[in-house]
Amino acid sequence: MEIDVLSSDDRSLRFILKDGNPSLANALRRVMTSEVPVLAIEDVEFIENSSSLYDEVLAHRLGLIPIKTDLSVLNFRDECKCESGCPSCQVEFTLKKKGPAIVYSDDLKSTSKTMKPLPGIPLVKLGKKQAIELKATAVLGTAKEHAKWQPAVVGYKYYPRITISERCTRCGDCVEACPRKILVVKKDKLTVTDEKECILCRACMDACGEEAITVEGDDKTFIYEVESTGGLEPIEIATRSCDILMGKAQELASRL
Ligand code: SF4
Ligand SMILES: [Zn+2]
Repeated sequence: MEIDVLSSDDRSLRFILKDGNPSLANALRRVMTSEVPVLAIEDVEFIENSSSLYDEVLAHRLGLIPIKTDLSVLNFRDECKCESGCPSCQVEFTLKKKGPAIVYSDDLKSTSKTMKPLPGIPLVKLGKKQAIELKATAVLGTAKEHAKWQPAVVGYKYYPRITISERCTRCGDCVEACPRKILVVKKDKLTVTDEKECILCRACMDACGEEAITVEGDDKTFIYEVESTGGLEPIEIATRSCDILMGKAQELASRL
């Protein structure tokens, strides 16, 4: 199996997986979305809430804020040696704000220097004489339990293989029909500018017929797009997913 990284930054990753198969491709996607742990707020203690939102609604909003997570220092709370929560298994936040104002995720003050909420997310608008004071605790979890612990949105497609036949008359109909504009007639020849951009819609085949152009998905090669919610870097999500998959395979082998 081979991996080619097409692009990578702190929020998104695009890569090609070669010599795979559909079950492996889907297993990897599922592990990335639902088995890589990330921090999310789990407990909220309200000291004051005179905003227009009920405690439950505000607690739900707090739970959905992405939090920068350092997996090298954190354990799951129920697997930690402590019995009541410690800096190795939870991160605590405080929030205190008076209206008139908009409360943002940045207003949550973290006990950790590195693990903080992503800034700029509005939570509630406070009017005159309204105020909020609360304590919140974030713990590690996975999206198997709740979607607030989903570290990324991940999609993949079969690698598009586009074949242009000798019988293509260069009429240009498929060029017009292609929504991704990746087909061009150059020097009296129909060419594909970037087949990775093809979405396998087959509008070109409908326009010019199978005898002129065919598009098929290669079920051994996959193009992945990983978009992180911001808690973990996409490359870390992908590499941890591979470790988790390998761990599962090893466990199965040892049980056998
Ligand atoms: S399948 Fe769709 S996106 Fe791909 S080349 Fe044909 S028209 Fe363009
Ligand atoms: Zn602990």
